[in-house]
Amino acid sequence: MRVGFGYDVHALCAGRALILGGITIPHSQGLHGHSDADVLTHAVCDALLGAMGEGDLGTYFPSSDPQFKNIDSLQMLQAVHQKLTQRGYGLINLDTVIMAEAPRLGPYLADMQKQLASVLCVSPDLVNVKVKSGDKLGIIGRQEGMAAQAVCLIHTEQHEMGPHS
Ligand SMILES: [Zn+2]
Repeated sequence: MRVGFGYDVHALCAGRALILGGITIPHSQGLHGHSDADVLTHAVCDALLGAMGEGDLGTYFPSSDPQFKNIDSLQMLQAVHQKLTQRGYGLINLDTVIMAEAPRLGPYLADMQKQLASVLCVSPDLVNVKVKSGDKLGIIGRQEGMAAQAVCLIHTEQHEMGPHS
């Protein structure tokens, strides 16, 4: 078994859609970034890559590359999941927290869990999404940005390997 951890932060700005865990959420501001800036999905990708010992998302989707401009982050997650499967790993569970002051995200958490689980081809009960406000402190509390953290546990499918591999 291997554990992985991911963290991401993006600035809030006007004129962008707010997308978290692949779900578009009505809000006066969205997250700024080269991709769709889905901060939760980016943290999840980094947790999975970390568990595999495969560096981070920037290695595979560099923000300097114009072909990834405004890319749907679920596509990135799909690529990471493909890598996971190819390497013979399975996901045990994934736990995440979004750090955001506004809007109220509670009504959207179940949809985010379902969306992430469907890309990862697992049951939604293996994916947990929580939200924490910034208590009006710092960049989160002042609504200058949103951050996310994710931790995951993966396992090797032992039975698919030879006795000495
Ligand atoms: Zn990001």
